Amino acid sequence: MTKAVCFQCGHIKFGSFLPCDQCQAKPQTDEELIVSMAMSDHYFDQVSLESMGEYTKENGHPPQLDPESEKVFRRNFEEAKASGVLDQLFENPDS
Ligand SMILES: [Zn+2]
Repeated sequence: MTKAVCFQCGHIKFGSFLPCDQCQAKPQTDEELIVSMAMSDHYFDQVSLESMGEYTKENGHPPQLDPESEKVFRRNFEEAKASGVLDQLFENPDS
């Protein structure tokens, strides 16, 4: 399963788009989803993820992606959204 940094508290959680087991935050907006997708072991190694987590913890928000990477992540995100993969992830098991 994907290891990812929580965009709110910096905790290393499993699954970019799943609720954080520490603070229960779940990415909802495109920006939160993109940064959550970016801060995962798909794109960064463990050491980088940990330092992003530290940054998020200390500053209360995730590190700013550089504009070039942001563009790439946004494009990947738009593609994932268009393919319907995200809809599956967001299906509410309670409904
Ligand atoms: Zn969290």
